Amino acid sequence: MRYSKLLGKTRKDAPKDEIAVNAKLLFRGGFIRREVAGVYNYLPLGFRVIEKICNIVRDEMNAIGGQELLLSSLQNKESWEKTGRWKSFDALFKLTSILDNQYPLGPTHEEVIVPLAKQFIGSYKDLPLAVYQIQTKFRDEKRAKSGILRGREFLMKDLYSFHVNEKDFNKYYEVMKKAYQNVFNRCKLKAILTEASGGAFSKLSHEFQVITDSGEDEIIYCPGGDFSSNVEISPVKEGKQCDLGHGELKRAKTIEVGNIFPLKTKFSDAFGLTYKNTEGKDTLVIMGCYGIGITRLMGAIVEVYNDDKGILWPSSVSPYQVHLVHLGGVEVAASPPSEVRRVADKTYEALKKANIEVLYDDREDVSAGEKFADADLIGIPIRLVVSQKTLRLREWKRRAESKTELLQIEEVLRRLG
Ligand code: ATP
Ligand code: MG
Repeated sequence: MRYSKLLGKTRKDAPKDEIAVNAKLLFRGGFIRREVAGVYNYLPLGFRVIEKICNIVRDEMNAIGGQELLLSSLQNKESWEKTGRWKSFDALFKLTSILDNQYPLGPTHEEVIVPLAKQFIGSYKDLPLAVYQIQTKFRDEKRAKSGILRGREFLMKDLYSFHVNEKDFNKYYEVMKKAYQNVFNRCKLKAILTEASGGAFSKLSHEFQVITDSGEDEIIYCPGGDFSSNVEISPVKEGKQCDLGHGELKRAKTIEVGNIFPLKTKFSDAFGLTYKNTEGKDTLVIMGCYGIGITRLMGAIVEVYNDDKGILWPSSVSPYQVHLVHLGGVEVAASPPSEVRRVADKTYEALKKANIEVLYDDREDVSAGEKFADADLIGIPIRLVVSQKTLRLREWKRRAESKTELLQIEEVLRRLG
């Protein structure tokens, strides 16, 4: 992609009312633009990050038998009345149509998936079943001051699983914990498996919490990794000695990037979702639900991976792998193109041909300092420079390091391949 053509350019300052680091940097880097409070547009760079995260999530959900589908956002009020959540779900957006009909605007999808699954689940032979979607959710959040960490509109992956009994459900729940860890590991986030309230569904659920000062949640956890609990339900306080000898339990601010819940028969009961067991007896289906906040995850990555110059994307979620820059100043704009420009263009073509995702800062009227500052702000892991000084060689630099190396194009392609 040529930077000169890219929709979304860098800016020196963010709007004053964007307080969160993720919102400031993503605005300045040209990844997002706010529509109204708690609602963001994702520009091409931001959309590429989302797609990277979605594909990691898809990969891991498909690997454990998840089938992807897409459910409706405008939902059925009757279904929400059946579960009691038309009244009890605080953040539910209630839409009134011009014909005076009312629709819940989906904050979650149990009320859609359970009646749908009921059309297809008849016998124990239809179970287990796991379906998921990546879809925009709407929640009328009272506070929406954390940039994309807490939106009124946001992207979530939600998976629902259906089982013949608790034993089969418990087995899948453990498989899911592992799949979640894979997702967060691949996004280079350390997500701590944390006991949390099960809400109206069951005693406990499990959250995946990423430690960072900008987090809205708090956990008490053992640095040895064998215990973590949301402070809301924690049976112990910080400072207590870990039972397994790992020292004192600590307290930290965190971002909840995922949450998995046993639903037991809460929703199958409400909708009469049963299957015929081996003896032909109608039996309630046991369910679980599993969420990952895709856009929140993107925000969490920015909160963890930044410095005073900008973002440092882990390569697995970076919008591009290489940020190619050519230096030459105004003389480069001369026609025919200067040698620097020709080498840079050729490098760009070679990278594209090798299927390497490259953002090419092809601007002619911009100083080296500005180009470097923009590359640091955008945060692509590798910067490659072509300049008059080093025409034959490309200067290779990692975003996270200050060291530079001069490489032949073959070596560049080998390293990126
Ligand atoms: P929170 O406690 O932060 O309000 P929640 O527990 O209500 O979130 P869940 O219903 O568990 O959220 O949703 C699953 C996941 O969706 C969360 O773990 C989180 O990553 C993400 N998520 C929830 N609400 C938002 C939001 N308003 N904006 C962005 N992501 C969200
Ligand atoms: Mg939650």
